[in-house]
Amino acid sequence: MTVDDDPGVSRAVARDLRRRYGDRHRIIRAESGEAALGALREMKLRGEAVAVILADYRMPQMSGIEFLEQAMDVYPGARRVLLTAYADTGAAIDAINIVDLDHYLLKPWDPPEEKLYPVVDALLDAWLEADYRPVPETKIIGHRWSARSSEVREFLARNQVPYRWYSADEPEGQRLLAAAGADGDCLPVVITPDGEALVEPSDPDLAGRVGLATTPSESFYDLIVVGGGPAGLGAAVYGASEGLRTVLVERTATGGQAGQSSRIENYLGFPDGVSGAQLTDRARRQAARFGAEVLTTREVVSLEVNGSARTVRFSDGTAIDAHTVIIATGVSYRQLTAPGLMPLTGRGVFYGSSLTEAASCKGQDVYIVGGANSAGQAAVYLSRHARSVTLLVRGGSLRQSMSHYLIQQIAGIGEISVRTHAEVAAAHGTDHLNSLTLRDTATGTTEIVDAEWLFVFIGAAPLTDWLDGVLVRDDRGFIVAGPDLSVGGERPRGWRLDRAPYHLETSVPGVFVAGDVRAESAKRVASAVGEGAMAVMLVHRYLEKL
Ligand SMILES: Cc1cc2nc3c(=O)[nH]c(=O)nc-3n(C[C@H](O)[C@H](O)[C@H](O)COP(=O)(O)OP(=O)(O)OC[C@H]3O[C@@H](n4cnc5c(N)ncnc54)[C@H](O)[C@@H]3O)c2cc1C
Repeated sequence: MTVDDDPGVSRAVARDLRRRYGDRHRIIRAESGEAALGALREMKLRGEAVAVILADYRMPQMSGIEFLEQAMDVYPGARRVLLTAYADTGAAIDAINIVDLDHYLLKPWDPPEEKLYPVVDALLDAWLEADYRPVPETKIIGHRWSARSSEVREFLARNQVPYRWYSADEPEGQRLLAAAGADGDCLPVVITPDGEALVEPSDPDLAGRVGLATTPSESFYDLIVVGGGPAGLGAAVYGASEGLRTVLVERTATGGQAGQSSRIENYLGFPDGVSGAQLTDRARRQAARFGAEVLTTREVVSLEVNGSARTVRFSDGTAIDAHTVIIATGVSYRQLTAPGLMPLTGRGVFYGSSLTEAASCKGQDVYIVGGANSAGQAAVYLSRHARSVTLLVRGGSLRQSMSHYLIQQIAGIGEISVRTHAEVAAAHGTDHLNSLTLRDTATGTTEIVDAEWLFVFIGAAPLTDWLDGVLVRDDRGFIVAGPDLSVGGERPRGWRLDRAPYHLETSVPGVFVAGDVRAESAKRVASAVGEGAMAVMLVHRYLEKL
């Protein structure tokens, strides 16, 4: 970058620089300190790197030294050169101390081969040796212990959007905030690869910016799939591939629980296991390739029956209609209720979202609550980063709740220890978790342990209250379907068709259920995908008779 208030000089410097460096570098020219600072801030937000800045000393409004001082706040790694007239060399020498100047060049700099290029060559070499690599991807600046900051990281990670995380307390985080004109009171700030700064963005804001669809393109479909976990994605792939106009609606990010799994070992066709993120990414691309519309960050809040149409309403009040609906809303993590845990959620206490936080646990002691496979997988994954992982299990052993292969894996990892008959009695910390009270359920004794990280995997419940009074659900909220609806040979109340409900059909004809949200389902990725496919087959059967 070169800055000079005299347009003739500014053009001449830029021309000389371009001639020698134009094939490897972009030369930016500005005619005032203010304009140059504006350009630097934009480049900072876009994640571009600045190697060398040449500034004229005598400029109105802002001198070259004042400019370089501020430029240093934005790009501390850029090498700084002051262009001075002979009479100003004293000031230039003083500036070496003020702005840590790398060099001063006397005007005129002709011939550049002798006076300009050797200086800039040396500065470029020095700059290349230093580690100031550009970061063109999405950047998040937030607090380590902020619930919304970790939600945003989780959201981007689950949608396979690469990002780099900066703490607002670190110098580079502060530089980015300053470049974005943000004061740091409202965090997180997300900077898109184009350099747009989003302050405290909502999930739909983020989805829109990272290229995920959030609004339906039509008002009527053959099939609406609610929920984008394995069951919903399976239904969308089969529905669209078999020619149904299909839309999938997902509340947060596609993948569901499986998307949070570090390694699914038992899914057919992946003998070495597959991460939930990979499986989700492939499934989503497959659904899109077949022409299914996939909407994210759209929560469905009601289902209505309007003649032969089934109406699905979103939380913003808008709605879409279809001939048929497949509900694949899965289950959500149950929360621990011990005192102190609620306010620390996202501030050291996490439900399931171990994957995005794993790197932050490096060298630290981690506690995991739960004795099922999800807790076991998380323990294995986190043990690669953490100093120690303690699995807190209520029962006397893992044998009743965890697969044999995982128990063996855990036994072979020195960093993991299993504490049986253990539960969290309380959590302590103001800004973030710093200790836990653990209770031994066999003896009733308690102990306080230092802990900054607690991951909870204690089973899950279906969130189906929005279907209350519409569909038959069991006493835990799971949706009842097919033969399970007939009690003592009787068809469900309000059922007017002269046939019985199809296998995965709910108490409303044309509305099907698949995956974990179905009563008595298997709670496995493979069975969820299988039910999604089977539900589509039954959708066809329903449509044929419509
Ligand atoms: C950490 C972990 C590891 C696991 N590992 C394995 C494994 O190794 N092998 C295995 O077979 N199984 C495993 N499971 C279980 C497996 O992931 C689930 O059985 C499977 O994901 C169920 O799929 P689903 O589509 O029915 O529901 P879910 O995966 O729960 O997906 C439901 C989706 O619906 C969305 N949704 C909910 N309500 C709404 C609404 N109102 N509007 C819009 N969208 C909504 C949710 O956001 C979610 O994305 C694991 C589970 C976890 C949590």
